[in-house]
Amino acid sequence: MAAFCAMRIELENLEGGKGDFAQVYRPEDLNPVDERVQIIAPAQVNGRVRLLGNEAFVNGHLETRAQVECDRCLKPVEIPVSADFALEYITGAEYESTAVAELTEDEMSVAVFDGEAIDVDEVVKEQILLAVPTRMLCREDCKGICPECGTDLNSGECACKKDDIDPRWAALKNLN
Ligand SMILES: [Zn+2]
Ligand SMILES: [Zn+2]
Repeated sequence: MAAFCAMRIELENLEGGKGDFAQVYRPEDLNPVDERVQIIAPAQVNGRVRLLGNEAFVNGHLETRAQVECDRCLKPVEIPVSADFALEYITGAEYESTAVAELTEDEMSVAVFDGEAIDVDEVVKEQILLAVPTRMLCREDCKGICPECGTDLNSGECACKKDDIDPRWAALKNLN
């Protein structure tokens, strides 16, 4: 296996304080993204870095495919991942001298960095996790697995059916 070519953008190498970047990651470069998300296709990222004083702004686009477990039956589900991102990086010193109230306005896109380089690998992993829905079902009406015996109820009933009503059906009944 070839060595993983990590991508860091050294800010001092940017001409005129800005530059474009593009990278294709193999799935094995990124996996495991976390315990529920596996990348299953090359991940393409491209974007632009701009410097403004002590801050760096990174805009870009990311595209790949991921495999995520169904929340109910744990079957793997494949989904396309496509994300546009706009991030702002400030140095630790800058962060400390800035009023916290000012930062919270847009806190999700502000990150503290060392002032020297942008770690594109980290950006890509973060953006993948943000783009994957927190709730994932293989299909809207996935029946899940039986909590008693572990049978996949999409492929048939199991023997432990009791009188108690599935809470999802109970909820539907209440609608009527
Ligand atoms: Zn499912
Ligand atoms: Zn069962």
